[in-house]
Amino acid sequence: MSTTVTIAYDVFVNDPPPQDNGLLPNAEPKSGSPVASTLIYGDEDAVLTDPAFTTGQAHALGDWVAEKGRNLTDIFVTHGHGDHWFAAGLLAERFGARVVATAGSIAQMDVSIGLRPFLWDKVYPGIPPAPVTAVTVPGNRLTLDGHELVMVEVGHSDTDDTSVLHVPDLELVVAGDVIYNGAHLYLGESVLVDGFQPWRDAIDKVEALEPHHIVCGHQNRQLDDDATRTIAETRHYLDDADELLQTEATAVDFFNAMVDRYPDHLARTVLWAGASALYGVREHPEQDVSEILVAGWL
Ligand SMILES: [Zn+2]
Repeated sequence: MSTTVTIAYDVFVNDPPPQDNGLLPNAEPKSGSPVASTLIYGDEDAVLTDPAFTTGQAHALGDWVAEKGRNLTDIFVTHGHGDHWFAAGLLAERFGARVVATAGSIAQMDVSIGLRPFLWDKVYPGIPPAPVTAVTVPGNRLTLDGHELVMVEVGHSDTDDTSVLHVPDLELVVAGDVIYNGAHLYLGESVLVDGFQPWRDAIDKVEALEPHHIVCGHQNRQLDDDATRTIAETRHYLDDADELLQTEATAVDFFNAMVDRYPDHLARTVLWAGASALYGVREHPEQDVSEILVAGWL
């Protein structure tokens, strides 16, 4: 592809919103994960990814986007989890942008809407009205000043029907929740797919894109975006989880053992939600799995 306009990207990491729903097993207050949004921009236009979920986050992110002085054409959402997109409508309205996603992710966005009263609104105040306005685009491709941005479907990672945005000319993958960077992985939904193999397959698909940079949906803003490191660390985390699921008798034991191995990782609340689900399903096979998953967050 011949093009003269150079594109670039920048990342804004929103702090998790305040929450007030009890303590973790180690008695620290619950707190969610930071959410990273990526702005890919040329001389005039820009595309934003995963615009977080509360009104406060939308304001902070929107002010950052406005400072870049570009025309925001599209907001891409990697997957259906509400923390990555409930604020998309506010940003779309502010900048006159379109919200885009794969068909699979759009279906999962509807699932998150269904869960709002039982999960999201119970834990996090300040989520705006969030109708699903996302649309698909032909071939799951966008162009930005002549450069291709490709939505790549990778299947189940920390939820069903996840996708990543591949920007070949930047050797960049915006990985959503397929790859994590310095924050605890959400392991809960592995109970729906019998373990971590689908997630490992999704990681392989990201690696096959040969990125040099990976922006993770949840990351410690102190860390770099090195693709090799973040891929290796995400794989290693899943291996550790598999090992400790064999050796640890209870959710609390698992939580404590993972915190011992990852003392600097952010978002222990996400670790606890996953541990509660994994051990909840193990200990109560007769119970409804979606109720167990939701209960882990409350
Ligand atoms: Zn997420």
